[in-house]
Amino acid sequence: MEICIIDNCLKTVKAKRLCAMHHQRLIRHGDPEIVKPRRVKTVKVCEWANCQGKVLAKGYCSKHYYIQRVTGKE
Ligand SMILES: [Zn+2]
Ligand SMILES: [Zn+2]
Repeated sequence: MEICIIDNCLKTVKAKRLCAMHHQRLIRHGDPEIVKPRRVKTVKVCEWANCQGKVLAKGYCSKHYYIQRVTGKE
């Protein structure tokens, strides 16, 4: 019975010398040691002053994108 090749992992191998969990990560992220996807860091924030809203379109969050569209400012 083989054990997963990842350090500190004692689960039995499912495929490619990795356990089910680490094999799943290899498929999803291309690296069995990544827990979270990297794109978390690249989330953009609204350009409106003092707004931390997540960007929806044209650099603004849903609320400010709507305001910017209604007022017609570019
Ligand atoms: Zn493992
Ligand atoms: Zn905003």
